[in-house]
Amino acid sequence: MNRRNFIKTGVLGALIAASPVSISALGEPARKTGKSGRLNLSFAPYELQLRHAFNLARSQRTTTPDVQVQIEFDGVIGYGEASMPPYLGESVASVTEFLGKLDLSQFSDPFRIEDIHEYMESVAPNNRAAKAAVDIALHDLTGKIMGQPWYKIWGLNPETTPNTSFTISYDANPEEMRKKIEETAPYKVVKVKMGLDHDKEIVEAFRKYSDVPICVDANQGWNDRNKALEMCHWLAERNCLFVEQPMDKSAIDDTAWLRERSPLPIIADEFLQRLPDVKRAAQAYDGINIKLMKSTGMHEAYQMATLARALGMKVMLGCMTETSCAVSAASQLAPLVDWADLDGNLLIANDIFDGMKIIDGKVTIPDRPGIGVIPV
Ligand code: MG
Repeated sequence: MNRRNFIKTGVLGALIAASPVSISALGEPARKTGKSGRLNLSFAPYELQLRHAFNLARSQRTTTPDVQVQIEFDGVIGYGEASMPPYLGESVASVTEFLGKLDLSQFSDPFRIEDIHEYMESVAPNNRAAKAAVDIALHDLTGKIMGQPWYKIWGLNPETTPNTSFTISYDANPEEMRKKIEETAPYKVVKVKMGLDHDKEIVEAFRKYSDVPICVDANQGWNDRNKALEMCHWLAERNCLFVEQPMDKSAIDDTAWLRERSPLPIIADEFLQRLPDVKRAAQAYDGINIKLMKSTGMHEAYQMATLARALGMKVMLGCMTETSCAVSAASQLAPLVDWADLDGNLLIANDIFDGMKIIDGKVTIPDRPGIGVIPV
């Protein structure tokens, strides 16, 4: 791999949106030119190719914009990643602009993760995926320096990870739909994307093929609370575990109404992003879906999981379409959660890391230090 095009921050950072690099150009940052005893940040855009077009309640797409990040400290490299599905409001341009503003060389201790988050908040609000990329790279770096994976540093038991769900969405072509359903065979839980016009048809097609539990993500697609309640009852009779984001994130009263009556747990996804949102979610939802690209990374995701559990809520760990880099970072938290939806790396055709594996349907955390990835 070629190291030349991996852009270091500073003046060049601003240029990066105009000259995105290809996968063949992604590589190691220039270690020898980085200041020793200081954190050296570099980054490069990388477009993720989806194996199937994503049909969501409100959009369709075949690629996901992404930025790969590296932080080097005294010859050790931490890997991080920002994935930007369009509905989150971040882009390659906004992420590279944010990263270009950061001066991590002011830090001489990569373990000052709290200070670095505070600094990032002072540089700009929002930019959650960009902050997550830095956070993931810092966790990878510090874990490597300690020689331990993060699940161990957090004191978690890797044998208690849940099964991951694998996602299918509706396809009008019956042959394509059949292929999508067959691809779910290795998984113990299947996540069905709903909120379109074919919600019951997908479940009926799937149930002809398999009786494994499903979970449902309506992606805010049900706009009537009575219809949502009817769907929850219908799904409860078809071995469904929970329903994620049934109605619009702003429909708090209707969601609370639904939660009171639903036989299935109601989980917040689009409704919440970061730690302060967890308490708010408790008013209307039974649980939360934590994703590193929303939470600004592993540091706050761990706090969110801990708070949600203390509030008696269910915790789900999700992801975007991402390489194994961000998915493996998320997997470090998997022993803390009730349900995992860590299939983002399986949904892309151009992964560039080896890391977390799904073995017999179960999230299996790599036995390597840091976030547990190696570039392939
Ligand atoms: Mg969701």
